[in-house]
Amino acid sequence: MTDLAYMDRDSWNEILNGERTYIAIANELAANGTVFIGWTDGLHSHFDILLTAHVTLPQGHFQRGIKPHDLFVSVMSVGAFGFEILDADVDGGYVDEKFGKFFGTATADQIAHLISGVRRKLWDHRNIQEMTIGRLTHDTVHVCALTPNGIKHFHRREGHWQKFDCEGCTDKFKEDAEKDLHEKIAKKGE
Ligand SMILES: [Zn+2]
Ligand SMILES: [Zn+2]
Repeated sequence: MTDLAYMDRDSWNEILNGERTYIAIANELAANGTVFIGWTDGLHSHFDILLTAHVTLPQGHFQRGIKPHDLFVSVMSVGAFGFEILDADVDGGYVDEKFGKFFGTATADQIAHLISGVRRKLWDHRNIQEMTIGRLTHDTVHVCALTPNGIKHFHRREGHWQKFDCEGCTDKFKEDAEKDLHEKIAKKGE
């Protein structure tokens, strides 16, 4: 089972906004670059959304402030735009404008939450400064990572750089793992 199976869903199996959705999408984008979801804003609107990051071999010049390292969001039959990967929320009004004011405030705000959630997780992935790894099972390891937002705990599966929030580890385990990380950082500084 991949992390994608853990996304937040409604009773019709449509993808909803939520921490699990943001983490699963960011993990998959970090590993494979593309995710396609049937998404609902929870307000009776459905959209098919293709998310793309880590585009390889961009060619030519780009306009509209778009950069090849952005998070690209394509909403089928509506439009597409590239959002810079930042540790910050994007404004619903800005999102609505970039999609030709198609959505209206309520739905645009929900799409903005999706973009904000995913890009904050992607930003964490890109900014890991140091990490230490502890084995949990034969195919899963616990990763303690130092990011500019402090220490984050992830689980990495099957040798991929797929990360999911740490679940099931005891506080004692995390404390010990953090101690390892601090020792590693201290050694590096010597
Ligand atoms: Zn940890
Ligand atoms: Zn853990």
